[in-house]
Amino acid sequence: MFDNNSDYGYNSTVKNYTRGDFVNYDVVIIGAGPGGIFSAYELTKLAPSLRIAVFETGNPLEKRRCPIDGEKIKSCIHCKTCSIMSGFGGAGAFSDGKYNITNDFGGTLHQYIGRNKALELMHYVDEINLHYGGEGTKLYSTSGSKFKKLCIQNDLHLLDASVRHLGTDINYKVLGNLYDHLKDKVEFHFNSPVETVKSENGGFSIETHDGKYTCKKCIISVGRSGSKWMEKICREIGIETHSNRVDIGVRVELPSEVFSHLTDELYESKIVYRTQKYGDLVRTFCMNPKGIVVNENTNGIVTVNGHSYEDPAKHTQNTNFALLVSKHFSEPFNDSNGYGESIARLSNMLGGGVMIQRFGDLIRGQRSTQKRLDKSFTIPTLNATPGDLSLVLPKRILDGIIEMIHALDKIAPGTANDDTLLYGVEVKFYNMETDVDEHLETHCKGLYIIGDGSGITHSLSHASASGVFVAREIANQM
Ligand SMILES: Cc1cc2nc3c(=O)[nH]c(=O)nc-3n(C[C@H](O)[C@H](O)[C@H](O)COP(=O)(O)OP(=O)(O)OC[C@H]3O[C@@H](n4cnc5c(N)ncnc54)[C@H](O)[C@@H]3O)c2cc1C
Repeated sequence: MFDNNSDYGYNSTVKNYTRGDFVNYDVVIIGAGPGGIFSAYELTKLAPSLRIAVFETGNPLEKRRCPIDGEKIKSCIHCKTCSIMSGFGGAGAFSDGKYNITNDFGGTLHQYIGRNKALELMHYVDEINLHYGGEGTKLYSTSGSKFKKLCIQNDLHLLDASVRHLGTDINYKVLGNLYDHLKDKVEFHFNSPVETVKSENGGFSIETHDGKYTCKKCIISVGRSGSKWMEKICREIGIETHSNRVDIGVRVELPSEVFSHLTDELYESKIVYRTQKYGDLVRTFCMNPKGIVVNENTNGIVTVNGHSYEDPAKHTQNTNFALLVSKHFSEPFNDSNGYGESIARLSNMLGGGVMIQRFGDLIRGQRSTQKRLDKSFTIPTLNATPGDLSLVLPKRILDGIIEMIHALDKIAPGTANDDTLLYGVEVKFYNMETDVDEHLETHCKGLYIIGDGSGITHSLSHASASGVFVAREIANQM
């Protein structure tokens, strides 16, 4: 399926460059996540004569391997480049492949390009995904669902969305097919983190460890893993950034039967609850029916995430989802990600990685131990350290999560059972929002920032849609 096995990851079938060559491109795309991939896809479709390069820190898709095997290597060994977050497919490569088609969550792209345009592009991305291997996967929708009423009756709010669930396996297949489609049209440079981007001679110069390249237009799509680099580039080029938020919480894992009435109909339900104690909003996020809980590594900090497979043979007995509380900070504090990192670091310090606790233990104020976990009827799908989340999470956040679990118990009885497992911590880091206009272009004409790296999108569908949008803008001009 893949033929990109050269040392430098260059596409040897198109051009034969050697290390250190000085090459001029029409368009350089930095980052091969969904944003970068869909920019490349649309550009090659609309303007096939353009010379396009994609620079990517990580590996080609087939070389992306996380060394954690659960036996010899049980926890994160902090690889130089994290295969979960980086490489062709970006952070989404091993994700659940849930493409939410909605303006209600997943980013604020609609505020830049308009609600209808944003939805139209998300549908377009969906069509491409279906064409490249996603055909036959299910599109779920909240429209007309009886659960809206049930939620409101219990002071819970179900957000509107359609969600295409590709599943981890089909998502991987779609990415492989998209790569096959692009590999002869675009020059891929893998294992090539871009170090600097400079405005030069009406275009841009890009430096990597093996040379300098120039281009007329540059699309930056570096995702969450590129957040620190993005901030540095914004400082250097003088692009304003705005402080954003951080979401902190836990991943809940319980027997799949508890949520099956919701997941069978909606697959994923985004439910929001306002706590009575503090008035904070707590929401469900990234629901994975019959899925598994996994580690996530962001800049060396291990947090928790989850996914599930489309293939029934790979289903587990459990469903998992995150419960997150959003924290927005005001002056003088502006390091929301730093706040989230400190909390995640604390859990890494106490647990050596991700920590796990039974809900019953948390409520009784006692640490979960291996012995208590062994007695649990719910078998964890991630090997995590039994511990006490109340030593890690701030009281306000933990109180909100406990309140939400009791609220969910009313629409999905069993959620507040003693054996419900809580993994901590789950943190959703948001990039600083970068200053771009309605074309997603910075004040440096020809320099675009898209996807999660822009702080504007936080999801597969919004990041991909932003890629298509910018590609069309560039194709129109060139
Ligand atoms: C485990 C997991 C599960 C998820 N599940 C879902 C889901 O089901 N649905 C959903 O909507 N979202 C999900 N997400 C979030 C989703 O993956 C992201 O929103 C999406 O991938 C963002 O796309 P992007 O292209 O903006 O950035 P990314 O996918 O992060 O890609 C950015 C790429 O840029 C590269 N890069 C960074 N810096 C540089 C540099 N200096 N030079 C060159 N390359 C660089 C990175 O290596 C990376 O490959 C999940 C995320 C994770 C981690």
